[in-house]
Order: sequence, then C-alpha cells, then structure tokens
Amino acid sequence: SIAYLNGQLLPIEEAKVPALDRGFLFGDGVYEVIPVYAGRLFRFKQHIARLENSLQGIRLPMEQTLQDWANICHQLIEQNSLNNASIYLQITRGAYPERNHDFPANPSPTIFAMITALPEVQAVPSDRDLQGISVITAEDIRWQRCDIKAITLLANCMLKQQALECGANDTILVRGGVAFEATSSNLFIVRDGVIITPPLSEHLLPGITRDFLLWLAEQHGILTEQRLIPEHELLQADEIWLTSSTKEIRPVTRLNDVTIGNGTAGPVWRQMYDHYQQLKVQLYRG
Ligand code: PMP
Repeated sequence: SIAYLNGQLLPIEEAKVPALDRGFLFGDGVYEVIPVYAGRLFRFKQHIARLENSLQGIRLPMEQTLQDWANICHQLIEQNSLNNASIYLQITRGAYPERNHDFPANPSPTIFAMITALPEVQAVPSDRDLQGISVITAEDIRWQRCDIKAITLLANCMLKQQALECGANDTILVRGGVAFEATSSNLFIVRDGVIITPPLSEHLLPGITRDFLLWLAEQHGILTEQRLIPEHELLQADEIWLTSSTKEIRPVTRLNDVTIGNGTAGPVWRQMYDHYQQLKVQLYRG
C-alpha cells in the first residue's frame, strides 16, 4: 500500500525512519486511528481535536490545520482506492544527532500515516459478533496519563498478551478495584436498560466511539450514565461491551470464565449495533 512520510507518498516498504528518531528511542510520540466510511473521514474533527490534545499533552506543538491533516488522509484514500478503511496517523518528536532525554528546542517532528482496509457495512451482525468475546481483568500497569494517545504501548501489549495466554481475547484494566477500559478500547456495561461507562479521566482514553455511542443512545432515548464501575459490578452487568473506532461495539460474553448475561450479545447491544450500521448506510447514500 501507499503510505505518507514527512510530505511524501511512497510504498509502505520504502517508508523508513532514522534509528535516532525519538519515537524509536523513547516512544516519544502520539497517534490517531481514523475510520473512513464511504470514502469519507468519520468523526474527523473529533479525532483531530484529540490529536491536538495529545500533542499538547506531550508539549509538541504543530502548525498543521484541520485541512492539512485532511489532505494527508485524502491522499491515502485516493492512492489506495479504499472506501472502508482506517487511517493510522503518527507524530513523533523526530530524529536528532544524539540520544538525549531533553526535548529539542526546535523540534522537527516525524509525520507518518498509513491506511488499512476495514470490512464493509454489515447490516446483520456476524456469528462472531453475536457470540461475543471473552475477557479477563488485570491490574492496570500503565502510566497516569492514559488520556494521551501515546505510541508508548508496551503495557497495553503485555496486558493483551496476558489475555491471549489465558485463552481470552482481551483484558479489562482495573485500578484500585475500579474498571476503566480495555487494552485498546473503552468499557461499557448495561444494567436494567441503562448504558454505563466510566467518566473521562487520566485513567482512560477519551474514545471517539465512546463519545459517539453516548450521543447515539441519547438520540434514541436510551438512558446513559457516566460513573465509576467497580470491578465486582462487572459480573452483575446484563451486558458488557468494548468500543473502538475499528472494533465499533464488541460484546463481551465471558469475564474471567464466568458467563455474562445469557452468553450471547444482549438486546441493548443489538439496538445500538443497528443504529450504528444504519448511520453508516446513510453515509453511503450521501
Ligand atoms: N482506549 C484505548 C486504550 C485505545 O487504545 C482505544 C483505541 N485507540 C480506545 C480506548 C477507543 O478509542 P476510539 O473509540 O477513539 O477508537
């Protein structure tokens, strides 16, 4: 596929970054993952607003405008002729002659972007969706700024791998007995028809899908609540979901080997799934 690196479009195999790049040496960078439906960027303003917050969070000011970021994305969509895709956009603080922790006075950031195909709109949920996934819970060993979408994902990888080694699909992260999110998605539970998700804080990423689902639920008169979710409450939930731009809404049907609900995707999930897909179909119709 064709990727973008520092102003150039080139085959991804040819996209090379110096070994002295601070992204490589320190994990000093941030990123975004932006879905594309019907060839159009979905919730683009929100994604770029979060990118700007992440950049501000690591004190790496950039002068690019919304239009500049959109141009990069549109070039990738066109060059790769993809209608349904996700764009990965990463900015690191760049490469310098020496390995030095101090931030460079005049940074020259590295901007990299690539695109990956996503499945078409699925009006009917797949068997895999209906069956749901299996998760474990584990203590969140990440840092205290999980609201920054940093490329430094070693703890997330370790926590995900821990799930795989337990025969599960993902890990819900717990701090001091409270569940915040999963390794690459936000957490929702449903109790008595109310959709509940933890409030924004430095312990979780402000998910664009999280925000979108809260809005979508409101549009359809479904009650939502933003409050802390104690780990023990997970087992009392009628439904558990994990959400992200690429996974959309993923039902969780097993938690630490205990069945959630009746062991398949629940009715509120089904409702929200339909609303989500309908909205995507509308995008295709223009
Ligand atoms: N939390 C974490 C830790 C994530 O990595 C992601 C996905 N990048 C999310 C939540 C979901 O965010 P979004 O809905 O914006 O994809």
